Amino acid sequence: MSLIVMKFGGTSVGDIDRIKNAAGKVAEEIKRGHKVAVVVSAMSGVTDQLIGYCRAISPRYDRGEHDAVVSTGEQVTAGLMALALHQRGLNARSWQGWQLRLLTDSSHGTARIVDIEADAIRRRIQEGEVGVMAGFQGVTDDGRVTTLGRGGSDTSAVALAVALQAERCDIYTDVDGVYTTDPRIVPKAKKMPRVSYEEMLELASLGAKVLQVRSVEMAMRYRMPVQVLSTFANEVGSELPGTLVTEGDKKMESSVVTGIAYTNNEARITLLRLSDKPGVAARVFGPLARAGINVDMIVQSGSENGTVADITFTVPKPDLDRATKVLTDEKTNIGFGNMVSSSEVTKISLVGIGMRSHAGVAATMFETLADKGINIQVIETSEINTSVLIASEYTELALRALHSAYGLDAA
Ligand code: ADP
Ligand code: ASP
Ligand code: MG
Repeated sequence: MSLIVMKFGGTSVGDIDRIKNAAGKVAEEIKRGHKVAVVVSAMSGVTDQLIGYCRAISPRYDRGEHDAVVSTGEQVTAGLMALALHQRGLNARSWQGWQLRLLTDSSHGTARIVDIEADAIRRRIQEGEVGVMAGFQGVTDDGRVTTLGRGGSDTSAVALAVALQAERCDIYTDVDGVYTTDPRIVPKAKKMPRVSYEEMLELASLGAKVLQVRSVEMAMRYRMPVQVLSTFANEVGSELPGTLVTEGDKKMESSVVTGIAYTNNEARITLLRLSDKPGVAARVFGPLARAGINVDMIVQSGSENGTVADITFTVPKPDLDRATKVLTDEKTNIGFGNMVSSSEVTKISLVGIGMRSHAGVAATMFETLADKGINIQVIETSEINTSVLIASEYTELALRALHSAYGLDAA
């Protein structure tokens, strides 16, 4: 059976007309002879609103009940989508995470998919019904509702595609593909017809939110072709290729920098006049790790006489207050002079498989930023990315300048 999964993000189901439009795309694919499973997000803004309700009761909420609330946005759209499909004369039914069941671990808010019991939905799809699954949500073994993290409907869609052995997973969103960088910030960004799993994984994990990182991980593990498409185009995925996320090929591997990602989700902490002796890094990062705070970029600067050093690192922005509290509590044990922090920072990352074999990539980045008078606070490199931390106010300027410097601008 030729089956495709069609996922519609928040903007694609943002109001009733858009839900009807999405239902039209499903009908088109069915006309072309495909069986279809649909995965929907909450209507745009709804998840934020639900999170706001929980916070308004208490900023220190129970994560299980938080999931019970925030998962409801997708339940509404799944039902509405099924109704819109009925209006087109199609047989359709909605499936919530617990109904399938889409089993996850119990990490509320960031749950990982463990298994999808897809027999029932598969049987009904084979009989001609469109299965509409609520994205973003799952259920634990003991029956508690979970959510998969922001943007998690992408992962729901890829997981369902894998479970149903679909031909491909089409992700309908508000841009018509994956671009060399966020097209909303850099108008000259170029659409990529294809991007390798590896590069997409890197772009997504460094901030390109067009696909959730875990959805790319899963697609890569199971070799599921994923296509990113515009919900506003007239054509459907079977006739209009957006960006295909797939195996890398020789041509793709030749470009040094394929894309630039950025994220505002990190905050910077600097500990000044830290005593420079063995064990000090362990005393800084041990308590943070025990508090469940992930440290990302780290840089240590030495001093002239070698007795004190400064150390700068980044933590997820939502954890900044907790992190500074942990460090303040440990101040005597760690032994530092002062602590300064900022949440007004942006991490900008160049991504490209070709970086493995090319020298001088980082130098161009530093020169470009220097030319614009942008100070680099932290630098981090890996085999296929180079990242810098800068003040947030320069995000647009830096992205546009780097995009040109690496020859990525559209003609
Ligand atoms: P949805 O609600 O459909 O899941 P998202 O808002 O999660 O949509 O993701 C789409 C957005 O991702 C785009 O509007 C765009 O601003 C952003 N984006 C960031 N980086 C990129 C990129 N490299 N290519 C395309 N879009 C990107
Ligand atoms: N509705 C969820 C969110 O806003 C999941 C998703 O849209 O993918 O994060
Ligand atoms: Mg998304």
